[in-house]
Amino acid sequence: MDALTQKQIDALAALMAQRKRRLEDEIREGLARAGHEPYADALSGTADAGDESVANLLRDVAHAEVARDIDELRDIVAAERRIAAGSYGTCIDCGAPIGHRRLEVYPAAKRCRPCQEIHEKGRGAAPSL
Ligand SMILES: [Zn+2]
Repeated sequence: MDALTQKQIDALAALMAQRKRRLEDEIREGLARAGHEPYADALSGTADAGDESVANLLRDVAHAEVARDIDELRDIVAAERRIAAGSYGTCIDCGAPIGHRRLEVYPAAKRCRPCQEIHEKGRGAAPSL
């Protein structure tokens, strides 16, 4: 696989900068919503247990969305550091170039596809070795 050109890196960096601003907004909104969403009233005692569990569920979902946004933001910040360090587009596990097509789909990717698959499997059930 060919190394990325500076032009490709610049285009991917611009995509990430854009995405970063969106994520920052979403995280801010998500946190604000978790603080005073309409369902928060249901938590204050007047609602029955059913409403309360729905309210808790919705709050958990809001938190999960924020957590996911924060993870993606972290990936982007890490990718920007790799651009600055000149190691962007290289798999952090095996050092192979990450394909440009993969980076177009997810510019903050830090692993090549095979390593990412191994990584994701590793997070699931313990390997049977
Ligand atoms: Zn790899």
